[in-house]
Amino acid sequence: MPFEPEIPIKRFKIIIIHLNFMLDIHEITQTLPKSQMVFERIAAGNHEQVVFCYDRATGLKAIISIHSTILGPALGGTRMWQYKSEAEALNDVLRLSRGMTYKAAVAGLNLGGGKAVIMGNPKTDKSEAMFRRFGRFINNLHGSYITAEDVGTNTRDMEHIASETKHVTGLPESMGGGGNPSPVTAYGVYMGLKAAAMHAWNESDLKGRRVVVQGIGHVGENLVKLLRKEDATVFVTDINAGLLDRVASELGCTAIAPDEVFSVAADIYAPCALGATLNTENIEKLNCKVVAGAANNQLADEDVHGRMLMDKGIVYAPDFLINAGGLINVYSEFTGYDREKALSQTERIFDVTLDILRKAQKEKIPSQEAAMRMAEKRLTDHLASTGD
Ligand code: NAD
Repeated sequence: MPFEPEIPIKRFKIIIIHLNFMLDIHEITQTLPKSQMVFERIAAGNHEQVVFCYDRATGLKAIISIHSTILGPALGGTRMWQYKSEAEALNDVLRLSRGMTYKAAVAGLNLGGGKAVIMGNPKTDKSEAMFRRFGRFINNLHGSYITAEDVGTNTRDMEHIASETKHVTGLPESMGGGGNPSPVTAYGVYMGLKAAAMHAWNESDLKGRRVVVQGIGHVGENLVKLLRKEDATVFVTDINAGLLDRVASELGCTAIAPDEVFSVAADIYAPCALGATLNTENIEKLNCKVVAGAANNQLADEDVHGRMLMDKGIVYAPDFLINAGGLINVYSEFTGYDREKALSQTERIFDVTLDILRKAQKEKIPSQEAAMRMAEKRLTDHLASTGD
């Protein structure tokens, strides 16, 4: 199951758009050496190391980005995607690896941030030889980067990588791995959602609360199970009609059409499908007190929409914090996988979320900003304590 840890960072995005433009110009005019442009981009995000991997025989074209190893080895999945250009692939891997640093830091893990991208069509361009070759590139980094599944890659690809290096997680249970991380991700989202309920109503019990779950895929369905166990009134939606019917009837919830998400009167909106659903138009329509879900990058524009939610009095549980269960799950593979241990570490998301929501309220800042500040503080405190 791919997990897609990433967070949008507004300031960074502005720089990237600008530099992306420059790179495109460069590709057309060839007026500046490409290395200069690449280094400018790396410097803008303060990335530690970026590795370009090429293998003629297998057609492998990959980029590994290590954003930070301050807290530990840089862990992040390998995404395989048909990028329109090398600039787009570089952009993606730099952005995603930086997001991983923040996600691990706020989750309290001793991990840094990294990510890899393979340029190509995951349906037609994969081969065992390609992933084994990629595994050897990872091995050459001696553990400063650890990979896992992501969009376009699966456990089978990880098994091929594992033939060449031990620096890979997200392996099947039969190989000592943690298997599908989605139930753990769902548990973390549930914990974050309960913390947000506690903050909003001084009561974390969800019995009778009306919750809209948008997207009932691997994480969403598991979240619905937890909510129904607590007797919440759940409305579900998905663009997959067959899935929608099955989940609604099996788990005793009400199916609604995808475009009804913002018109149902609810207490809680749980986005578990796509990013950027919290945009100006939707926030104006929002008819709930709490937003807490699994989807990555829920805020279309982090600065604008985090504040807009705050001004509307809506409690927002930051996505990159509450969907960290999948990362916690793969992290626990290092110490000998134990699902109970992973779940109990994931349970701490309740306390961290509540702490962040209270800090945000006290300091009158959006909760996403409070979470980012907490992550940054952990990084700077660690640097100060090691004298680096
Ligand atoms: P998934 O693909 O299994 O499920 C997503 C579901 O959303 C699908 O059933 C899809 O049909 C539905 N969907 C798509 N567009 C929709 C729309 N417009 N309206 C309603 N439903 C729609 O993905 P997942 O693994 O469950 O992950 C869900 C989200 O959580 C993603 O954003 C993912 O990046 C994020 N996430 C997942 C994990 C994990 O462990 N799987 C970890 C962290 C973050």
